[in-house]
Amino acid sequence: MTRTGVLIETGEGKIKETNFGVLTAARGKAGDNEVYALLLDGDAEAAKAELSAFGVQKIIAISIASGDLATSPELQADAIVAAAKEYELKAVMGLASTTGRDLFARMAATLDLPLISDCISVDVNENSAVKSHFSGKTFATIKVEAELMLCTVRPNAIEAVKAPAEAEAISFSATVSDGAKVKIIERKKGDGGKVDLTEAPVILTGGRAIKSAENFSMLEECAALLGAAVGASRAAVDAGYAPHSMQVGQTGKTVGPKLYLACGVSGAVQHFAGMKTSKVIVGINTDKDAPIFAKSDYGIIGDIFEVIPALTEALK
Ligand code: FAD
Repeated sequence: MTRTGVLIETGEGKIKETNFGVLTAARGKAGDNEVYALLLDGDAEAAKAELSAFGVQKIIAISIASGDLATSPELQADAIVAAAKEYELKAVMGLASTTGRDLFARMAATLDLPLISDCISVDVNENSAVKSHFSGKTFATIKVEAELMLCTVRPNAIEAVKAPAEAEAISFSATVSDGAKVKIIERKKGDGGKVDLTEAPVILTGGRAIKSAENFSMLEECAALLGAAVGASRAAVDAGYAPHSMQVGQTGKTVGPKLYLACGVSGAVQHFAGMKTSKVIVGINTDKDAPIFAKSDYGIIGDIFEVIPALTEALK
């Protein structure tokens, strides 16, 4: 049995669904690890029901004695480190999201400990995790020898499985020095109301074949019916059809949805690096020899300007 902490991320005041896969991994293979949910900005009491359903035993609502936790990733990282020490955690896990990447790197640097980032599976009891290398061409199992295992998990890489428990809410005030050099002064919201790419269970990605920014509305319409997010290949982004925030791939976002529809995307290795762990991949391409088909579970040889409207109609 290992006492494991999971940093819980919230968005729009709600607990992100992708946390639940991390909580599942935190319970360990035998499912008997003691799981501590670490909350930086959430209401521990309000989170009780949702987190209890995934085996959380303690919800630690972290605050700091002086300073504003919300405005400083440095203070946040220090506060998580303080909580890990206070509750004698053997591992702290989180999402390989923008926030997770930022905070876990800071924690690893502060503690001078290794960090295994962007894992696709984790065995906390063995201090080991699997992560992809060389743009997803190989996978390595990494074992750390450290008093505290730090790792971030690729969103949606681990299936969330419920395991009901009775979570207890605890308040913890960390004593951290307020010498933060970085301060968040403003947060600008992106595309309001749209499904977050890294969170989405279904993604439709438009490649160069989409031909214009306006044509992305064809994908948006279909995505809205599927509860999906819309992504873009780098060629589509470079051509100015979509913002970089929508780019999937080696130099864009890493995603792992249940269903990934590559619409007019050739299937370059750098694109594949960002969506390889999708559960089911569907390639839609006019070229029967396009590399995407070698990596797809299902292939549709066809024109996206015919296939997507037909799919939208069928969904309606
Ligand atoms: P193309 O390769 O031009 O493919 C378009 C496809 O659409 C073709 O297969 C064509 O047959 C098909 N098509 C054309 N018309 C239609 C139609 N009407 N209906 C259906 N199919 C049609 N790429 C990324 O995506 N993400 C990254 O993060 C990324 N990072 C990179 C990092 C580096 C260092 C480098 C060197 C490259 C990176 N790339 C990345 C670029 C990558 O190598 C490819 O150039 C890019 O993915 C190609 O995008 P695409 O598939 O949309 O375009």
